[in-house]
Amino acid sequence: MRYLIVSDLHANWEALQAVIEDAAGRYDQALCCGDLVGYGADPNAVVEWVRQNCAAVVRGNHDKACSGQEDLEWFNPVARAAAGWTMRSLTPENARYTHNLPKGPLVVGNFEVLHGAPFDEDEYVLGAEDAGQSFEYLERRLAFFGHTHVQGGFIWNHSRVETIPRTALRASRQSMEVDGDCAYLINPGSVGQPRDGDPRAAYVLYDSDAGMVTYFRVPYDIGQAQKKIRGVGLPPILADRLSLGR
Ligand code: ZN
Repeated sequence: MRYLIVSDLHANWEALQAVIEDAAGRYDQALCCGDLVGYGADPNAVVEWVRQNCAAVVRGNHDKACSGQEDLEWFNPVARAAAGWTMRSLTPENARYTHNLPKGPLVVGNFEVLHGAPFDEDEYVLGAEDAGQSFEYLERRLAFFGHTHVQGGFIWNHSRVETIPRTALRASRQSMEVDGDCAYLINPGSVGQPRDGDPRAAYVLYDSDAGMVTYFRVPYDIGQAQKKIRGVGLPPILADRLSLGR
């Protein structure tokens, strides 16, 4: 089975469209690690694509916030403004779908899908130490997670935790063979708001028969996504940061 794994789409339809086109014909099933909405100007288009195309989806913290399940006091003012706007913009059907997304981790075949850490969906797995703790909670040797918006992840190699080097700047793909003796926490990166210094949309393809994970970066129409964010009156910094990838 060939899987397309996307995460942190954040209502960026231009970025998601570019990913869909780039990955077309190269996967059998799509999966999502959460944060469908929040920050971007196209929550309905993005939620509808996920509803129709993803076989398994876990909720992210922004999905909770934008469907009234999170105390917005904990959000910074920009994220709070975006959550309020998203809540008012989602159709009742898409709001219900977002509200009912399951909490991760979800077990899919021989791997897991989650948003933050396996022990806490809102916790960031940023460094090898966080990852070491997370590996103890995994029920499978392979897991896909998001939340940090940083493409890459971690390998548990005989009790040593290694950081997977980020896709080289300007490279558009990077493959890695999955070793059955190791465990993996794979971050496909963010589709809609990358924060690893590369503004291109990020995703992963996983071929379970070949045991191969491939990271991808794809350029998209950032200008159009920015225009829409400014046009609907979301905080301008949400548009600005897209060109920086930070
Ligand atoms: Zn996110």
